[in-house]
Amino acid sequence: MDIEVSKIVQGVEPSATLAMSAKAKELKAQGETVYNLSVGEPDFDTPKHICDAAVDAMRAGHTRYTAASGLPELKAAVVADYKARFGLDYASSQCVISNGAKHSIHNALFATLNPGDEAILPAPCWVSYTELIKLCGAVPKIVATQEQDSFKLTPEAFRAAITPKTRMLLLCNPSNPTGSCYTKSELVELAKIAVENGLFVVADEIYERLVYDAVPFTSFPTLFDGLQDRTIVINGVSKTYAMTGWRIGWLLAPENVAKKIASLQSQETSNPCSISQYAALAALKGDQECVAAMRAEFEKRRDYVAERIAAIPGMTAPKTGGAFYVFFNIKNFLGRKYNGVQVDTDKDWCLELLQQKKVATVMGSAFSAPGYARASFAASMDTLKTAFDRIEEFVKE
Ligand code: PMP
Ligand code: GLU
Repeated sequence: MDIEVSKIVQGVEPSATLAMSAKAKELKAQGETVYNLSVGEPDFDTPKHICDAAVDAMRAGHTRYTAASGLPELKAAVVADYKARFGLDYASSQCVISNGAKHSIHNALFATLNPGDEAILPAPCWVSYTELIKLCGAVPKIVATQEQDSFKLTPEAFRAAITPKTRMLLLCNPSNPTGSCYTKSELVELAKIAVENGLFVVADEIYERLVYDAVPFTSFPTLFDGLQDRTIVINGVSKTYAMTGWRIGWLLAPENVAKKIASLQSQETSNPCSISQYAALAALKGDQECVAAMRAEFEKRRDYVAERIAAIPGMTAPKTGGAFYVFFNIKNFLGRKYNGVQVDTDKDWCLELLQQKKVATVMGSAFSAPGYARASFAASMDTLKTAFDRIEEFVKE
């Protein structure tokens, strides 16, 4: 007898970013040299003082359950960091530490959305948002943004997407996959519309420390008084401290929501890994020079990749203001043959680029934006150089 899977999981798609990365790794295991610009993961090692803190934690016997919602010292450090950098006052009870920011997003959505609720999602949007919203029985209301607006949600498009069923706006700033960053005044416009319409906002700010051109980052709940009560902020250590494998993320939410999420987590997963939590504590409390150094390196790569794309006739991309992605328009390169293989869609293009040139990217359609592709520049300069040489060759052929 086949076990029938539930109706709710039947519709869940696998993560396309992780799937592309797995494909690249598969080719590599077959002995191919692959230039992997697919997954969004810093190529740097986790800084040594953070790894040392994990070893110390193990040796000190911090190998047992912690509070289900996270180590009190780590929650205190997160809250202190938000006070120091953004002037925001949160109680530790408003912070829940989870198994990565992806888990925090799941918790935030699961604790707030009812079946049938609509959540507004500006697209291009990160692959997991749509599926996580659907898992709650809620409806992702995907709102297309335009390349000429740097893929940012406009107040007009936001207003037009609101219906009586709308409960939430999910905003990723800086954006994965587009790298676009909202200015303070743009955010204020969106926040006002959310307030006028009684919506709450999930603000995924996981890339907030990776912003370029000395443009300051504005955290959503700082925009005006009262907004903190209707915002759930998502953040974590994966991107800022090159700690993707450690699985530590968190959310900051109004007290009633955070408390319910803590209960949910206590039933579902208990605490995230105790050792990783001590490592995250060292990351937050330690010298921040490592963040500055990685950010500076990402900025150099951002400039390099922008130059390479600008030099390819017919290829365009808005400037990346933050995160480590470039989202480029490949519409001019579709509907042709590449070495005899017909390439009609962004998916075909990315798969043939991988097959023929061994360069892994992710198709725009995975981010609800067909006709584009995403490249992560969290890869060494050498990898980027060869990858873009090959992309250039590919589109010329
Ligand atoms: N939000 C965004 C926008 C991301 O790109 C990622 C990357 N996976 C996450 C959340 C989740 O990060 P984590 O590794 O902490 O789960
Ligand atoms: N967020 C990264 C990406 O978009 C990591 C992969 C994932 O979690 O989907 O590539």
